[in-house]
Amino acid sequence: MTTMVIIGGGQAGSQAIDTLRREGFAGRLVLIGEEPWLPYQRPPLSKKYLAGEFALERLPFRHRAFYDEHRVELRLGRRAERLEAAERRVTLDDGEIIAYDRLLLCLGAEPRRLACPGAQLSGVHALRSIADVERIRPDLRPGARLVVVGGGYIGLETAATARQMGCEVTVLETADRLMNRVVAPETSAYFAAEHGRHGISIVCGARVERFEGSARVDGVVCAGGERHPADAVIVGVGALPVTRLAQDAGLACDNGITVDEYCATSDPAIFAAGDCANHPSPHYGVRVRLESVDNAFEQAKAAALNMLDRRTVHDRVPWFWSDQFDNKLLICGLSQGHDRRVLRGEPAGRAFSVCYLRNGELIALEAVNHGKDYMAARKLILGRLRPDLGRLADPGIELRDL
Ligand SMILES: Cc1cc2nc3c(=O)[nH]c(=O)nc-3n(C[C@H](O)[C@H](O)[C@H](O)COP(=O)(O)OP(=O)(O)OC[C@H]3O[C@@H](n4cnc5c(N)ncnc54)[C@H](O)[C@@H]3O)c2cc1C
Repeated sequence: MTTMVIIGGGQAGSQAIDTLRREGFAGRLVLIGEEPWLPYQRPPLSKKYLAGEFALERLPFRHRAFYDEHRVELRLGRRAERLEAAERRVTLDDGEIIAYDRLLLCLGAEPRRLACPGAQLSGVHALRSIADVERIRPDLRPGARLVVVGGGYIGLETAATARQMGCEVTVLETADRLMNRVVAPETSAYFAAEHGRHGISIVCGARVERFEGSARVDGVVCAGGERHPADAVIVGVGALPVTRLAQDAGLACDNGITVDEYCATSDPAIFAAGDCANHPSPHYGVRVRLESVDNAFEQAKAAALNMLDRRTVHDRVPWFWSDQFDNKLLICGLSQGHDRRVLRGEPAGRAFSVCYLRNGELIALEAVNHGKDYMAARKLILGRLRPDLGRLADPGIELRDL
């Protein structure tokens, strides 16, 4: 009997199980996940789940009955310690050895840590898992002073949630604007204003030098000496792909586990998908590693089909969303390498889009409270639209009519 093993019980691992069984795989299927929970969704962790408005029971993608019914052998709370690619076997932290015919690595990413003094103090948190939220939530009491290090989407979502919970929030960002790696200056400015309007203090150009406190953090000191008092700190300065298992097994890795367009690693029996995988994007002609629900979902689907020898290229126009207060930011496509930006609408109107073009082709769009533009853009980007710039800039003309 063929054995398929999946390591990593997150978004990608869960999707791969779905696809394998849905597509008729009847052999042995094993899921190894180091977290003790059934595979669950992470986006609510910085939003409604953190706020206590989304029950724990709603986080898992599937109930336990689903795994029983589909004969999925769960090894939860168990870590894959060693991968021996030549022998096609995995050793778990309790010594169990599982042999596979095909293996899928869905190892995710882990929060980047700050190496500065005091980073280990109690009250300094990262946010990736249910366990992290359980540590953070008691610190978010009304009136508590929270310092968020990092003005990326996780930092800003967390800041917004904490503010809604009654905390006094300061966001420290090293760059000169928020979300600077992923959005246009107009969008950064809009979100800075929104956070400011809700009483969050945003400090850009702030480089954290150390965390202070005896047992517990009580302040954050930046280069230049400015000190921000803190009852708790959340560090949201990006994530790194989890690759150690793959690297130790001799698989090619470079900013993630290197896979081809069929999601195969340098070992043809081993596949990878999700945040941990660095893959080629045929549409854009570049290699990328994406951290988004959409990518984990779609890539895992493609990987599962390829594990079943149904040759399927993973070639999608990626998309991503972020919720901050009552604002929805939707991004589709990859803006890297753009040579022109076109603004549709006015940020003052609270609904606008930024279009990115390269050599006249629409390659990406970010929509703020503008679902219509976003929906249209997904199709136009896929169709490699070369829009008339005047019409593109006219918010009176529906994007889909271009
Ligand atoms: C707080 C937060 C908010 C987010 N919000 C959004 C959002 O609004 N929109 C969006 O598109 N994306 C969002 N994301 C990103 C999205 O959740 C991730 O891109 C997605 O979860 C990636 O899925 P994955 O399966 O690749 O990794 P994960 O979901 O991280 O799963 C990987 C799993 O593998 C396990 N693992 C690792 N190594 C081993 C091992 N050796 N043995 C066993 N298990 C192992 C890990 O413990 C983990 O459980 C958010 C992420 C976070 C953390």
